[in-house]
Amino acid sequence: MKNSELVLVTGGTGFVSMQIIFQLLHKGYQVRTSLRSLSKKKGVINTLKSQGISSLDNLSFVETELTKDDNWEEAMKGCKYVLSVASPVFFEVPKNEKEAIKPAVEGILRVLKFAKKEGVKRVVMTSNFGAVGFSQTDKNIQTTETDWTNPKEKGLSIYEKSKTLAEKAAWDFIKKEGEGLEFATINPVAILGPSLNAHTSGSFNILKHLLDGSMKAVPNIPLNIVDVRDVADLHIRAMKNPNANGQRFIASADGQISMPEIATFIKTEMPEIAKDTPSKTVPDWVLKAAALFNARAKEGSLLLKVNRYVSNAKAKDILGWSPIASQEEAILAALQSLIKYEIVK
Ligand code: NAP
Repeated sequence: MKNSELVLVTGGTGFVSMQIIFQLLHKGYQVRTSLRSLSKKKGVINTLKSQGISSLDNLSFVETELTKDDNWEEAMKGCKYVLSVASPVFFEVPKNEKEAIKPAVEGILRVLKFAKKEGVKRVVMTSNFGAVGFSQTDKNIQTTETDWTNPKEKGLSIYEKSKTLAEKAAWDFIKKEGEGLEFATINPVAILGPSLNAHTSGSFNILKHLLDGSMKAVPNIPLNIVDVRDVADLHIRAMKNPNANGQRFIASADGQISMPEIATFIKTEMPEIAKDTPSKTVPDWVLKAAALFNARAKEGSLLLKVNRYVSNAKAKDILGWSPIASQEEAILAALQSLIKYEIVK
């Protein structure tokens, strides 16, 4: 299959970008990917080769940094579509909040500015469910794309705040200066599924902490999960479908699953790696009490409240998206990657 359309995917080293690049090349697209340093090019090439992509004639590289203007013109030149995936993913509490948020907000504005200048048709931004549903605590009402997280929400992590502010800034740009440039966002919940190499994203910490003995008891936090293969597919659909312009799309497999349920699932499906997986749960009141003193517990306390009755109907209805993996299948594939790349033993 050959396709002359050129797509820029930012952050080619990333867990999600790598899967998107793999799927685009498989579909015959011309792909350009941006890296913070071209020294990382070899790793990307080796990963794609290991996945059976034999010819890499359709793949090119450019060096860009979200916080600098250098090379963005070159990155966008001739591109019909831009998938703006790169953004710092971090879970520690940063010392300097402003500095931590800057690359996310500045980065998407830079991408949009240069995309408009170079006549790109559409930008699809990888945002986050954290920009949608973290202020929605009524568990009787389904969370949809019309919801927005309040960036001042108590307990909101700086990472989720960075994504919320970045998405808000992007829509604001589109409204005020985006004339002629199409835009859509994908808002994934926690992404698991298979990794194409030994790099796994921060979302894998959910599993790593349940395996490495660092957790003595599991907080009763509800979650939604989506498989990285489905997230990549959704980006490509949102890139191509005329009806995606101006829309946000939640990326989530059906249903919800709690941390204790994930722990039980691991123990049942992969007992050989679950010897340190805790069986006890942390009572909610303990987490809430700890939240008075500790930023991580404050975050945990917010996560206890977030409504996980989440709709994925919009992506299905408008884009014909049909996730291939259930939450359990995404967890299992992620566990298999952790074993394959010897991240857990
Ligand atoms: P990842 O593997 O950590 O990838 C992040 C990518 O962003 C890497 O390529 C990284 O480059 C790049 N990057 C970070 N800071 C940058 C900067 N200042 N300039 C240029 N590039 C920079 O994380 P991921 O899971 O694939 O995340 C991809 C996107 O999905 C992010 O926008 C994230 O917020 C979003 N998302 C992820 C999840 C999840 O559960 N994983 C859920 C919702 C949304 P280096 O390799 O050079 O560091």
